[in-house]
Amino acid sequence: MKVGQVLLKGATIVSMDDVAGDLDEGDILIEGDRIVAIGVRLEVPDAEVVDLRGRIVIPGLINAHLHTWQTGLRGIAANWTLLEYFRWMHAGLATCFTPDDLFCATQVGALNQINSGTTTLVDWCHNNPTPTHTDAALDGLLDAGIRARFMHGSPKPDPKPGQPHFSEIPHPRAEVERLLRDRLGKNTGRVDLGLAILGPHYSTLEVARHDIRLAREHGLIASMHQGGGTEKAPRGWEALDEDGLIGPWINIVHGNDLSDERLARLVALGVSFSIAPEGEMTQGHGFPIVGRLRALNAAPTVGVDLESIMSGDMFSVVRMALGMQRAFDNAASRQSHGQIPETSTISTREALSWITTAGARMLGLTDRIGSLTPGKQADLVVIDARAINMRPLHDPVSTVVMQTSLANIESVMIAGEWKKRAGQLLASDIDRKLDRLAESGRRIARAMNLRTAA
Ligand SMILES: [Zn+2]
Repeated sequence: MKVGQVLLKGATIVSMDDVAGDLDEGDILIEGDRIVAIGVRLEVPDAEVVDLRGRIVIPGLINAHLHTWQTGLRGIAANWTLLEYFRWMHAGLATCFTPDDLFCATQVGALNQINSGTTTLVDWCHNNPTPTHTDAALDGLLDAGIRARFMHGSPKPDPKPGQPHFSEIPHPRAEVERLLRDRLGKNTGRVDLGLAILGPHYSTLEVARHDIRLAREHGLIASMHQGGGTEKAPRGWEALDEDGLIGPWINIVHGNDLSDERLARLVALGVSFSIAPEGEMTQGHGFPIVGRLRALNAAPTVGVDLESIMSGDMFSVVRMALGMQRAFDNAASRQSHGQIPETSTISTREALSWITTAGARMLGLTDRIGSLTPGKQADLVVIDARAINMRPLHDPVSTVVMQTSLANIESVMIAGEWKKRAGQLLASDIDRKLDRLAESGRRIARAMNLRTAA
């Protein structure tokens, strides 16, 4: 059977690939789920041609951290500090979720990511009280058709009398094995499994050891929040280091409170870092560690974290990470040299790499995603550069990072399939899905007596 060929013609291409480079007017040939060629005036007689003059094509964005299950609670936590968030979200609202609530939040949240240009989502799902909840969240993710790493995590309720605190409960082995057996692969499918564990900040050392070993045994990433409040396992990182349990399979989220020495050691061991700049500044984590990672020749990956606080749009959060670190660097230069730096300390291209190539590296998927490269998956975003907020185009990378809004995301392709085309998300019954999500969100908020609009 002949595989269908699609030829994207005449676009400005920002490939984020050193060999393919950037093209002012280039073509991309797609065959099945893969990119097979990038070049100028490609001639492919039988291909379906898509005229993309006036558009910029970039690799699909990689959102490194999102609790998609909170989509139905949009805006509800926008005025909460981290302490309020723990009390009201994890010990409160999270406990009111039915499997159906997880389904519609994950489905709509993932569709919104596609609509905004994200093609790979790290869905950090830590509201899985039962396997039925987990299956429902997964069904939502699969239904949306996004590429994803489903990070399976445990909820954080207040313990009932006689029950252990969540920090003392090891990650459920049987559930991980069920998911691998029945539902998900490892680095091979559209949706793969990872572990959202508590780690030494949120669990005892014994639990952290158990959970990392479980992830290692199955070749999975172990991702964990680090920071906010008192750590459960003081000197936990030192102990895990001595045990040889730290390596590229570890992903740390936030990390604002790590000492310089500890951060350097973790980077040297190959640990990846995911920051959520807007949420970290809002909730009280501290300053995002962009500059501290750069000083160690490491790059952050960037995530939205919480639609219960902010927009799900990746360009907003990456601009925040870039602007914040430039401000720090400029202030440091003023202080040490009495003047601003001769040139910007961080380029817009580097910022774009945080949400493309760095994300792919973190997920161990550099051979499949992160750049427009022949042989990789056809995950891409078409940005309309003809709009009033985009013209004239002098520096396509800077226009992409600094000017692009949701209104400019014209089309999105995942694995060679259009998921959004000509400004329209290609999903059925969006209004019905949104009504169902609104009903779910209102019911959860009402259960906690939180004020919510009718
Ligand atoms: Zn988080």
